[in-house]
Amino acid sequence: MALVSKLPSSSSSSSSSSSLTHFRKPLFSTLRPASSVHFTKTSCSASPFTEKHSIERYQRDKWVFKNQLDQNPPENHPNFTTRDYEIALQLPELKNLLQVLREKREKGGDGESGKGRPGNVFLVGTGPGDPELLTLKALKVIQSADLLLYDRLVSNDVLEMVRPDARLLYVGKTAGYHSRTQEEIHELLLSFAEVGANVVRLKGGDPLVFGRGGEEMDFLQQQGIQVKVIPGITAASGIAAELGVPLTHRGVANSVRFLTGHSRKGGVDPLFVAENAADPDSTLVVYMGLATLPSLVQKLIHHGLPPDTPAAAVERGTTPQQRIVFAELKDLGEKIASEELLSPTLIFIGKVVALSPLWPQACCSKKDSHVMGHV
Ligand code: SAH
Repeated sequence: MALVSKLPSSSSSSSSSSSLTHFRKPLFSTLRPASSVHFTKTSCSASPFTEKHSIERYQRDKWVFKNQLDQNPPENHPNFTTRDYEIALQLPELKNLLQVLREKREKGGDGESGKGRPGNVFLVGTGPGDPELLTLKALKVIQSADLLLYDRLVSNDVLEMVRPDARLLYVGKTAGYHSRTQEEIHELLLSFAEVGANVVRLKGGDPLVFGRGGEEMDFLQQQGIQVKVIPGITAASGIAAELGVPLTHRGVANSVRFLTGHSRKGGVDPLFVAENAADPDSTLVVYMGLATLPSLVQKLIHHGLPPDTPAAAVERGTTPQQRIVFAELKDLGEKIASEELLSPTLIFIGKVVALSPLWPQACCSKKDSHVMGHV
């Protein structure tokens, strides 16, 4: 049994690629701060951060990832061309800007940031996509930032919260830059902080859950830069709420475990934890798990998890393009493949999934994939 749910979209920004299962999250996408509504041209021309074409600068590929793998799509993929150039284009300009700020600071005219004081560096979690899942703290920091570095899991809706005159730089892994350039980016981040700019590193979900936030913090701290972390709602929590699934539930699941399906070495079978994870009284949430799911399922069943354990996979959760597939564990891989779910997709495995108000309809519907109506 499996089910692809469909809810009508209320968002004008919904523009999923091709699927029959366009999805929306309820109620959201209507409230926006004024700054996000009018961001095409800025009136803040006095700021050295003024950017004339910010919208083109950060318009991304609208979450359309053609690659089936839930990890590093190939660098030469056509979808990422714009981003590759984006970085190449922006670096020289940012260096110029840095020079301007430096000179300004040397003359003692750096106004707001205070003479001689370094700027702040924030590591900010932006949640799984829905901008209304940002914390107030994150919003405040985002709206006061001068320079923002973001990766691919930061949704366009969140980017719309950025001040029109702030600089946005895409530094996701898929950008295809070489490690030398990545170092260059880190150097830039440090340099901007040193000249008093407020620099923000945006990360999808929570920066310290599979976000490599710890590594970045470490890097910056080693350079003597203090990093302030602002937590975000991790995909597991945000998307479980969308499904109406309690991650723990008395008498059903007494623990929850976040797994990654992605190995550091990029191997196909990184699931050394499967043996311990096959616990029917626990909920498993698998991040970056599309590519290795078949292997994980096999192992979990082999180690004793019942094949009919309820499971769900959610693509682009909490965004207008959200798609959900429900299935019993043994069928999950096949259903994900037949619905062609793409990255980013999060996978839930455990009895709690059947507590979703959507699940009974999945059970009662016919065996084939089924498009569900309004919930
Ligand atoms: N720091 C992030 C996780 C980064 S790892 C967090 O706390 O949520 C990237 C993986 O997270 C993706 O491959 C996917 O498995 C999951 N993910 C993040 N956002 C998601 C979303 N909106 N929908 C589905 N999965 C998501």
